[in-house]
Amino acid sequence: MSDRVSIAAALKGCTTVLISTHKNPDGDALGSQLGLMLALEKMGKTVLAHNLDPVPEIYRFLPQNDRIKIGKPVQGRYDAFIVLDSDPPRTGLLDETYPAAVLINIDHHITNPRAWPLTWLDTAASATGEMIFTLILELGVKIDRDIALCLYAAVFTDTGSFRYSNTTPESMKIAAILLEAGADPWLVTENVYESFSYHRLKLLGAVIANMERSEDGRTAWVVVTDELYRRTNTTAEDTDNFVNFVRSVKGVEVAVLFRQTGSAQYKISMRSKGRVDLSGLAQSFGGGGHKNAAGGVLDGTLEEVTKLVVREVEKAISAQMGNKGTI
Ligand code: AMP
Ligand code: MN
Ligand code: MN
Repeated sequence: MSDRVSIAAALKGCTTVLISTHKNPDGDALGSQLGLMLALEKMGKTVLAHNLDPVPEIYRFLPQNDRIKIGKPVQGRYDAFIVLDSDPPRTGLLDETYPAAVLINIDHHITNPRAWPLTWLDTAASATGEMIFTLILELGVKIDRDIALCLYAAVFTDTGSFRYSNTTPESMKIAAILLEAGADPWLVTENVYESFSYHRLKLLGAVIANMERSEDGRTAWVVVTDELYRRTNTTAEDTDNFVNFVRSVKGVEVAVLFRQTGSAQYKISMRSKGRVDLSGLAQSFGGGGHKNAAGGVLDGTLEEVTKLVVREVEKAISAQMGNKGTI
């Protein structure tokens, strides 16, 4: 039996289900979570969606997103606990004991350690949303307009609007079916990419003004500090996708965003143009991700963290591409 079939069979036998996803949830995390919640409810199940962090403003158009419970304590016991789009620890909830007999993990990150027996990991899927689409078909639920919108948002955001190398014929075929089922593509685009606050653009300007690059031009990076948030009246949510501007520079192979998360702690977001695999490097920093998009959190002063990460990125570029500079 495939992992998808085993998970569908297990879910059919459950009445109450808890669904969670990773910290700082993105479009794939939330679209997958809400899409699956709506599908399971159509089967008559009682579902609680619960995440550590709130739904970012740009995803507040997703159907029923206001039902997602937020914060560390999780109430109640459930027949099944499903973790989507990350390994279970990255939910930031429930450190070791989980309030369910059936534990299910559905993810597409190559760095997922498959800690739970009912893990379905498909690293070829562009988004967890693609996997949820096929799971919902397996469960025999009809994809209505709301489910279609959630899953379309998931695939659309994780493929960078069908531009990244993870875009496959399968992602396009699924997106086509979701559009046929009633997903409105402009509703997603307008909310996710055309509704930025004035302050966010001011922050972007300040961040890009201080962009730096290595001597050979293959590594470039930007920093967002607490001081900068204060000065521009912004929050972490406003830095979403900033790292892509840095990657877009000609000659850059790897871009890094350092975002302050504590007095001596920084979240790193790394992006590759495809010639350097970042997943192992992110894992060596205690994080994870995909080949071209990976991240993690590091403790240290800004100087320590940037120095370490830039040095390790440069080493990875040289090891994987040789020493030829591009500028
Ligand atoms: P980000 O830079 O946060 O957008 O993350 C890039 C990719 O790496 C996304 O697919 C994330 O889900 C993944 N990722 C980021 N941080 C971690 C982490 N600490 N552990 C595992 N995967 C991560
Ligand atoms: Mn995600
Ligand atoms: Mn994803």
